[in-house]
Amino acid sequence: MLETIIYSNMSNAIIYRDDDPNVYTCLHEFKKVNQWFKDRKLNHTVAVVMEDLWENHGLFYYLATEPNIIVELHGWEHKDYSILSYDECFNDLKKSKEYWETNCKRMTGIDKKITTYFAPWNREGDNIKKACEDLGLRFCATKDGVWEDNKIISFHWWSFNGL
Ligand SMILES: [Zn+2]
Repeated sequence: MLETIIYSNMSNAIIYRDDDPNVYTCLHEFKKVNQWFKDRKLNHTVAVVMEDLWENHGLFYYLATEPNIIVELHGWEHKDYSILSYDECFNDLKKSKEYWETNCKRMTGIDKKITTYFAPWNREGDNIKKACEDLGLRFCATKDGVWEDNKIISFHWWSFNGL
């Protein structure tokens, strides 16, 4: 955990945002992507689709324990939260946050918190923004560009070939 904090402070000018890791993600492929970041001593921010993620035990464990990986949220499912009701947004995000944090703690003893919601297709809506605010999550719908004093660089693990 200490390493995570140090890396975060060192590289908070750029967020390397990797969207879509999910229960079907191949751990072997994903490790190769993360190795690219480890080799450069960079953080790797993953916006995960949370539904049933723990069922992919190897991936879940890797996400929880790799010091350079920052786990954030892309939704319970990959869907357009910008058109959903407040209750739907709130319930999905709350469920996702609790699912990650409970399973992470139980499996590894590590308390890796989710702090940010990265919107699928970067779609914004009042309900999803309010749900984030009420859950203490930061809302990000920036694909590439400046967001909260950070520069976001987006990619997908499944088509990653270096940056
Ligand atoms: Zn996505």
